[in-house]
Amino acid sequence: MWAALAGGVGGAKLARGLAAITPEVIDELRVIVNTGDDFRLHGLYISPDIDTVVYTLAGIANPETGWGIAGDTANTLEQLRRLGADAWFWLGDRDLATHILRTEWLSNGGKLSEFTEHIARALGIPAAVQVLPMTDAPVATEILTPGGWLAFQDYFVRRRHADEVRDVRFAGADDAAPLPQALATLRQADVVVFCPSNPIVSIGPILALRGVRQAIEHRGASDGSRCCRVAVSPIIGGQALKGPADVMLRGLGHEVSALGVAQLYAGLIDIFVLDETDAALAPQVAALGIRPVVANTIMCAPQDSRALALAIAQAISK
Ligand code: GDP
Repeated sequence: MWAALAGGVGGAKLARGLAAITPEVIDELRVIVNTGDDFRLHGLYISPDIDTVVYTLAGIANPETGWGIAGDTANTLEQLRRLGADAWFWLGDRDLATHILRTEWLSNGGKLSEFTEHIARALGIPAAVQVLPMTDAPVATEILTPGGWLAFQDYFVRRRHADEVRDVRFAGADDAAPLPQALATLRQADVVVFCPSNPIVSIGPILALRGVRQAIEHRGASDGSRCCRVAVSPIIGGQALKGPADVMLRGLGHEVSALGVAQLYAGLIDIFVLDETDAALAPQVAALGIRPVVANTIMCAPQDSRALALAIAQAISK
C-alpha cells in the first residue's frame, strides 16, 4: 500500500498518476489531504484541496485551472452577486452540489472523512484508491502579512496571495488528532510519497498534526520496515509553477529552490525527485543523505502524471 500526502492542484496531479498505476503497480493507494484551507462561505463548508483531489481522481477536474469541475457554469455565483453577496470565491454550479451536501452531512453530525469517502465513490473513484482528509477536527491555516494575520483564503484568493509572508500558523493543529486511518496508513505504507504540493501550507499542516511527523520519521531505513519515502519537488528552476510556494519559502527564510525543499524534508525522505531543469542540484541533495532522482516532473496531461508515477516506482525498485 502506498500513502501520498497532497494539497491541491500539484498534489492532485501526482495522485492522478499514482492512481493510474493502481492496482497494476501499486496494490492500494491512500491519499492524505490537507484540510487547513477549509473554510465556510455563504453558510457552506468548503474543502478546496479535498475537492481538487477528488475531482482530479474522478477525471472531472477543470483541465485549465486544475480545480473546479470541467465545463461548470457560474449562474449561482452571478445571482449571488446580483443579490449583493460579496462573492469573491469562485464557486461553480455543479461544484456547489458538493458543498451543499457536505454542509448538510456535517450539520447532521457526519464526519468530513465519511463524506469524502461517500463522494469519492459517488464520482466513480475505484475502491483501491482512498482519499483521506488529514483530520476530522478543525485546523485553520493563517498567514502573517505586514498587515497582520489573515485567514488562508483571505490571503490566497481574496487578496490573490500578493502580500509578503512573514509567518504561517495552523490554528487548532495542536489539538487536532490526525485521522486514525491516516496515521495507520503512514505506519503501514510500503511507500510514502510527498506530492509536489506547497511544502509550507499544503504539506506543512499535515506534518503539524500530532504524531504525523514522528510516524514518517520512524519509517526510515533504520526501522527495518523497508518503507521508502519519496518527495517530488514542487519548485522547478527556483520557481513555483503556480501559487505562492516560492514567495513563502523566501518569506520564511528558506532557500527558494528544489534544494530548499529537500532541506525542509530532510529526515523525512529517502528519495527526492528533481525536475530535469534542476539536475545540477543532484549532488547537493545527495550531500543531505537523500538519494536524488531526476525526472520530468511537469504534469500537463494525465499521461505525464502516469509517467512520473512510474518513474517513482522504478526509482524505488532500484
Ligand atoms: P494548491 O493548494 O492548489 O496551491 O496546490 P498544491 O499545494 O498541491 O500545489 C502547489 C505547488 O504545486 C506549487 O509549488 C507548484 O509549483 C506545484 N506544482 C503544480 N503543478 C506541478 C507539476 O506539474 N509538477 C510539479 N513538480 N509541481 C507542480
